[in-house]
Amino acid sequence: MGEDIQKPLTSRMSVALAWGLISSRTLINKILKKHSISDTGAETYISELIWREFYKYIMYHNPHCMNMELQTKKRNIMWREGKQAKIYFQKWIQAQTGYKIIDSAMHQIIQTGWMHNRARMIVASVLTKNLGIDWRWGQDYFRSVLLDLDEASNNGGWQWGASVGIDPKPIRIFNPYSQQERFDPDEKYIKKYLPKDYDLKEPIIDHKIARAEALARYNLNIIK
Ligand SMILES: Cc1cc2nc3c(=O)[nH]c(=O)nc-3n(C[C@H](O)[C@H](O)[C@H](O)COP(=O)(O)OP(=O)(O)OC[C@H]3O[C@@H](n4cnc5c(N)ncnc54)[C@H](O)[C@@H]3O)c2cc1C
Repeated sequence: MGEDIQKPLTSRMSVALAWGLISSRTLINKILKKHSISDTGAETYISELIWREFYKYIMYHNPHCMNMELQTKKRNIMWREGKQAKIYFQKWIQAQTGYKIIDSAMHQIIQTGWMHNRARMIVASVLTKNLGIDWRWGQDYFRSVLLDLDEASNNGGWQWGASVGIDPKPIRIFNPYSQQERFDPDEKYIKKYLPKDYDLKEPIIDHKIARAEALARYNLNIIK
């Protein structure tokens, strides 16, 4: 397990799971043959698989969530609309946001059909919080490109990323710069996926301004 997004130490089993080549149950049984549940690695890995199963449980009991916020109080967010929304969305898809970590991740998904969980969380946060775009647009885009598409996990990930689903916090706004410093300090990920002629110097929207707009959009008055 690991948070190094450049050289992920994760299992990359999501494609096999999504295509039904193996089940969570088989994986857990294999792990428990070799490890005790209290081994840190085993416990962490099983807990990841439980997220997958948990999202399936949520979707089974709340099928309307496919297109609706799980949290009823978050159903009136005024997502950006019109021409500006379409321009922002296209820039996000085309890896032209000017946030290097986001643009690298969006290149990765095009080139490989996969993205590290950390990168998925950051791109979802930037699309919904910084750009104010409806999470359903992101969910649809991921649906069209992910090799490991799992409708329940994709929906759960997007609802989490947009702070409208399973999450006790009222809102999480990832700072793309500090996320880059934390998870790609040597810019290895960026160098791997950003094209050599990438020359965007300014972000599509200043992070501080975007943050303030997001808090207003979510109708939250949080100073921190
Ligand atoms: C916006 C967004 C969209 C996502 N869409 C999908 C999707 O369509 N399909 C998909 O399988 N996962 C999705 N995820 C969850 C997660 O990103 C991937 O499961 C993980 O990156 C797959 O890599 P891995 O197999 O190396 O994971 P590992 O870390 O090795 O984990 C092992 C397995 O546990 C499960 N798992 C791990 N983390 C999560 C998680 N946060 N939520 C649900 N299950 C998890 C997966 O089945 C994974 O294969 C999404 C997350 C976000 C934030």
